[in-house]
Amino acid sequence: MPRPPAVVRTLPSLRRAMETLRARRATVALVPTMGALHDGHLALVHQAKRHASKVVVSIFVNPTQFAPHEDFGSYPRTWKADLAKLTEARVDLVWNPGVSTMYPPGFASRILTEGPAQAGLEDRFRPHFFGGVTTVVGKLFAQCRPDVALFGQKDYQQLKVVTRMAADLDLGVKVIGVPIVRERDGLAMSSRNVYLSVEQRADAPTLYRTMKDAARRLRNGDDLGAVMADGARTIGDAGFDLDYFEARHAETLAPIRSTKDGPVRLLVAAKIGTTRLIDNIGV
Ligand code: AMP
Repeated sequence: MPRPPAVVRTLPSLRRAMETLRARRATVALVPTMGALHDGHLALVHQAKRHASKVVVSIFVNPTQFAPHEDFGSYPRTWKADLAKLTEARVDLVWNPGVSTMYPPGFASRILTEGPAQAGLEDRFRPHFFGGVTTVVGKLFAQCRPDVALFGQKDYQQLKVVTRMAADLDLGVKVIGVPIVRERDGLAMSSRNVYLSVEQRADAPTLYRTMKDAARRLRNGDDLGAVMADGARTIGDAGFDLDYFEARHAETLAPIRSTKDGPVRLLVAAKIGTTRLIDNIGV
């Protein structure tokens, strides 16, 4: 077994650890996570190693991106297993601040982004979400000053928002998107999949199957409106409560009227019971 990575929990110890990491002109990749790590997160770590000589993984369940009615309190926390996975993956440093380190008393700032953050997708159903994400990611970038940062395409709108923010604020970090890692039956891996009952888990791959079918039909030239309406019906029939199933421009996230309007991304969000799942696919 390789040696476990160093774990730091305070800003002074992070600063010292980053100085040591950066010795001999190492390049640094940051992989921000909320823990409860699975193979999707590990794919980010593996990509990180290809882009930088040192890899820092942050584990922080960020309260400001959860609404009061959401699952901050019950979000899975699996520290021991996470550390074992990061040891196996030979990560160099784990940044695991507490809430009061990230948000000390008197904390009163927030990064607000427009453009992709106002595309009418996640922002429509979780209006608090991107303000929380951009603020914590902005802080993580300021704290770690990485050369590159890896984000999953699983959270496609988030990837676009963070990419925009890093460019707009001249943060000097290159944001790299990593393809979605799926279970064998197509369900996108997610820390929240543990919430699913056996029956819900059996129904959950409907989202991916429906998107795949819709993408195939669109490539064959079927009418966009009809394809999306059929997909929404299939998802509803499988017992989901649909938030959205949309075809958007893959880069700008702007609505499109036909597949000729640009590279197309299909994006879906739906609740099964009380668990909200999101997924997306390129056409
Ligand atoms: P989270 O811990 O859920 O906040 O996710 C941390 C990072 O892992 C984000 O950049 C996610 O997009 C990414 N991620 C989560 N699940 C997957 C997956 N199945 N495939 C690829 N990336 C993922």
